[in-house]
Amino acid sequence: MSRVLIIGAGGVATVAAHKCVQASDVFTDIMIASRTESRCKKLAAALKRPVQTAQVDADNVPQLVELIKSFRPDVVLNLALPYQDLHIMDACLETGVDYVDAANYEPPDVAHFEYSWQWAYRDRFREKGITALLGSGFDPGVSNVYTAWEKQYFDVIDTLDIIDCNAGDNGQAFATNFNPEINIREVTAKGKYYKDGQFIETEPLEFSKMFDFPAGIGPKKIYLLWHEELESLAPYLKPYGLKEARFWMTFSDNYIKHLEVLQDVGMTRIDPVIYEGHEIIPLQFLKALLPDPASLGPLTKGKTCIGCLLQGSKDGKPVKRFVYNVCDHEESFRETGAQAVSYTTGVPAMIGAMMLATGTWKGPGVFNMEEFDPAPFMQKLNEYGLPWEEIVY
Ligand code: NDP
Repeated sequence: MSRVLIIGAGGVATVAAHKCVQASDVFTDIMIASRTESRCKKLAAALKRPVQTAQVDADNVPQLVELIKSFRPDVVLNLALPYQDLHIMDACLETGVDYVDAANYEPPDVAHFEYSWQWAYRDRFREKGITALLGSGFDPGVSNVYTAWEKQYFDVIDTLDIIDCNAGDNGQAFATNFNPEINIREVTAKGKYYKDGQFIETEPLEFSKMFDFPAGIGPKKIYLLWHEELESLAPYLKPYGLKEARFWMTFSDNYIKHLEVLQDVGMTRIDPVIYEGHEIIPLQFLKALLPDPASLGPLTKGKTCIGCLLQGSKDGKPVKRFVYNVCDHEESFRETGAQAVSYTTGVPAMIGAMMLATGTWKGPGVFNMEEFDPAPFMQKLNEYGLPWEEIVY
């Protein structure tokens, strides 16, 4: 019997709301609040159980506090954009309510993301006696839980490779499967990986290689990117003798070609440019031109495959294991009205909120996903539509 306040009404919130409705034994009362209330109402109308909706500017802490005080949730599930994280954490602190998000804080004016801003809340959450669960999406999120789960098979873990493949096709010349601004900022940023005790920076998309994916997906080119979960997972695996940790993502040649041109002409810039007397931010203007990710749902076919490849040894013998999920775009759309990229994020977001709401994962403080027992989360992934499989090499 608990109350969840979902903030945001985009692709990920759509899936999380459907899943909260399915978990009616845990989430008895649901509110969806976002900047544009009409989107919340449209989403609410598609759900199988009545939910409340509200308008809120999640950058306005007093407004958030008022909303939280009036709805009295047990947990706030932040599925707005990374820019809102700190404001929503501030509101949770003021009202004494648990907090879950799916992406770490990013300042709007710098394409830079790291946990330091949110880890700085640890003492305040501990003193208040409430819990913040950071990065409860797929990657970060399930990737952290997979890593914690796999530890049981190793004495030594030399390398961790988190590998994210979207083998779907939406038939568009160029489109991103989640918020274009966030996606393009991530891809055009410098890469970074962990090696021998330090993080090493790379040029954007400097390193690539082929990886053979299961489930009929086959070989695809993967590119090294910086991803936030490496920041917490590298120190977490240090006692296991970790030498190298990397994050990889697939991009089609067509996607890379378009991105290069857009970058070359300045369309991915995030600094203001004066155009006919108005200040515009090229990347935000580009977002307005590109297809809304929500509109791609009915058009996207194919599968995603995201997993963790761990290599090391147990009892002196070499061990190599790949734990992963395969998710089908069309099946996700049929169930929730959103494609697999939103589905693979929205399901673990709901499960994260469920872990706190049921007291299965307990604080207080600010936590990354690998800090809790992975077993109950792994079980819920199977129950709520993201079953995992393993290849033991
Ligand atoms: P969308 O852009 O589809 O949705 C974002 C929602 O947040 C929109 O409804 C938007 O409102 C709302 N919003 C934005 N600003 C505010 C504000 N100031 N106040 C209130 N609401 C606001 O994004 P997604 O659903 O694709 O992504 C949601 C989150 O999930 C993001 O943080 C993203 O980075 C993260 N993510 C994490 C992944 C993971 O694996 N960990 C993978 C994919 C995404 P409006 O409708 O008015 O625009």
